[in-house]
Amino acid sequence: MRWNLSIGVAECTTWGIEHVYVVPGNAGTAALYKASNRADTASDDYPGLVVLAKNLQIGLVVVGPDRAVVDGIEGYFRQSGIPCFAPTKEAAELEGSKSFAKDFMRRHNIPTARYENFNDLEAAKRHVLQIGYRVVIKASGLAAGKGVILPSSTYEAVKALEDILVNRVFGAAGSSVVVEECLEGQEISIHTLSDGTHTWSFPPGQDHKRVHDGDRGLNTGGMGVYTPTPFVTPPMMQDIETLILEPTFEGLRLEGRTFVGCLFSGVMLTSSGPKVLEYNTRFGDPETQSMIPLLDETTGLAEVFLACTQGKLDQVSIKTVPAFACNVVVAARGYPQSYSSGETIEIGKSDTDFIIFHAGTRIVDGKVTTAGGRVLAVAAVRDTLQDAVHAAYEGINSVKFHGMHYRKDIARRYVSPLRY
Ligand code: ATP
Repeated sequence: MRWNLSIGVAECTTWGIEHVYVVPGNAGTAALYKASNRADTASDDYPGLVVLAKNLQIGLVVVGPDRAVVDGIEGYFRQSGIPCFAPTKEAAELEGSKSFAKDFMRRHNIPTARYENFNDLEAAKRHVLQIGYRVVIKASGLAAGKGVILPSSTYEAVKALEDILVNRVFGAAGSSVVVEECLEGQEISIHTLSDGTHTWSFPPGQDHKRVHDGDRGLNTGGMGVYTPTPFVTPPMMQDIETLILEPTFEGLRLEGRTFVGCLFSGVMLTSSGPKVLEYNTRFGDPETQSMIPLLDETTGLAEVFLACTQGKLDQVSIKTVPAFACNVVVAARGYPQSYSSGETIEIGKSDTDFIIFHAGTRIVDGKVTTAGGRVLAVAAVRDTLQDAVHAAYEGINSVKFHGMHYRKDIARRYVSPLRY
């Protein structure tokens, strides 16, 4: 099954999926059996999407984009009685406002980096100049993965504050900032499904945020992931469950923000235990492309999502195969800064078994072309991490477009050096 981070609406019977409509979709979803793209309704026209779903007699809506979740798309579908796999607007504030998320963690004793929230430049500057630790500066609102700055000097930190609070480089997302202690350690992503009462977590994955090999260059939305992470032991997962996941879902429930959907917890494994870096209130990209392929063939994803909307997650079976998945993102020339579009993508034949997940692609004059910064990802599942990594890179050899670039060291720390 291919997965596309978009808004999907499915016509379901018990239990087969008759058809999946994707808004707006891309060249990958256009090519899928029993699926079609719908570009006639904008993905931010929430009342229009409800009309579309009613006309198509949709049985389940699955929401991908952060903006739609944070805007409260779930409420539009709830009011019209159509099951929607997404948290409420109130629960999604955990992603929509980093200041809110940090205060929430403080209220519920959830381990996270030391921080202060500011909307006044002078006060923020004074704070940065006074504290004796390295900081991370975050625009509080959604900024397409670019609102987090890791300054390497106090000068850069002050500049970031000015850019966000005064120059408004991230628009309204920068009306307040979080000034946070910079944490050291291994970063992992945990995705947890919740029906409001029961939860189930995917095996942890590790993304590679920087654009260049060796974790150099600008931060991106993510350049590649492997799952599961061999260094996360069962006792560590238990700590994450007890210290982070349980108090998060319980805290949300206590605050009347009961969470239904997928919660993504970005966690830093520090020398003093796991600490939350951020929450996202939907599936993460590219983590999802290496988690979903690990589900075994008896697990019906749509059935699981529907069960979440009905408070019945405990009544469905979710199983993963004992294997590793790796996916490598292929980006357009210039990404993560301004990037080229409209390049023709050629995908050749290969004997290797891999999956291509389209992201920024579309069909123009019958040809698959680039239409975004992160264009596609190539994923492979194998019994060992080493083999999964090899197979994903073999898959990349069959993809060609002008200006394409990708990291050549995904999971390098955990597999022997390879030549790609
Ligand atoms: P946006 O809000 O712009 O979409 P985002 O949600 O991706 O951004 P975060 O996940 O909070 O933002 O941060 C992006 C990355 O920055 C993290 O994945 C992590 O690598 C790094 N980072 C964030 N906070 C810290 C921290 N306190 N210490 C060290 N690194 C951090």
